[in-house]
Amino acid sequence: MAAQAADLMSLVLRVDSMSKRFAQRVALANVSFSLQPGEFVGLLGPSGAGKSTLFRCMAGLERADSGSALLGEHMVGALHRHGDGRIAMVFQQFALVDRLTVLDNVLAGRLGTVPAWRGVLRWFSRQDRMLAMQCLERVSMLDHAQQRADQLSGGQKQRVAIARALAQQPVVILADEPIASLDPTLAGGILSLLRSIAKVDNVAVICSLHQLNFAREYSDRVIGIRAGEIVLDCEASLLDDHAANRLYEHQPKIQKTSATPR
Ligand code: ADP
Repeated sequence: MAAQAADLMSLVLRVDSMSKRFAQRVALANVSFSLQPGEFVGLLGPSGAGKSTLFRCMAGLERADSGSALLGEHMVGALHRHGDGRIAMVFQQFALVDRLTVLDNVLAGRLGTVPAWRGVLRWFSRQDRMLAMQCLERVSMLDHAQQRADQLSGGQKQRVAIARALAQQPVVILADEPIASLDPTLAGGILSLLRSIAKVDNVAVICSLHQLNFAREYSDRVIGIRAGEIVLDCEASLLDDHAANRLYEHQPKIQKTSATPR
């Protein structure tokens, strides 16, 4: 019983029976899983499987029809109206403001913590600026702090987007296809950076990916989603080609593996 309680304490985010429909289309069907601090989870599944919807609902950016996401003891979405600061997102298309400097883009990660008028005037405290600079250093982009975001390469933009996520001081990072716009060499660097953030900062990182080799190489655990349902949840080292291929095939669902019950 005590061990069970300790297990629950160590969970950072718990998604419980989450479902979401768009008109007749099922995007999420009774999805449940938990994330632990420091864990790097690869989220696999074909296009339209529900990965982005899951991320938006987990971040509190979209309301699920039923079920919940709990961050510690708190329901996500109950803390802030638009998303939760401790859950940061990284996107395929970076979502930077092109005409702003790299530093101002990273400071946007602090917007949730300052009054709106200060955000509008981009009036951030010295501490926030120091934090933003540290985050840039962390992603090896400090030298570019005063450069406009639209002057950066794709890989550099994604590093800045990760620095902005770090500036939120998150406990969870949701990375929605963060390498889909990058070539394989840059992609490896971004995944390695996200994995090191998970391990060094003890942040739970869940990252949707299409490449199985990357999922195996960088993840501790993989979750497979198909037609809105979790059909695979196992240690990354146990993901064999057969299980992975079936995730993408037009076939009956594969069974949830019992290799690592969660
Ligand atoms: P993935 O990220 O795995 O590609 P999505 O979460 O984007 O999948 O989509 C899951 C399903 O929900 C798809 O069938 C998609 O067409 C549908 N969907 C997602 N967002 C919307 C929306 N805003 N309006 C209508 N249907 C949507």
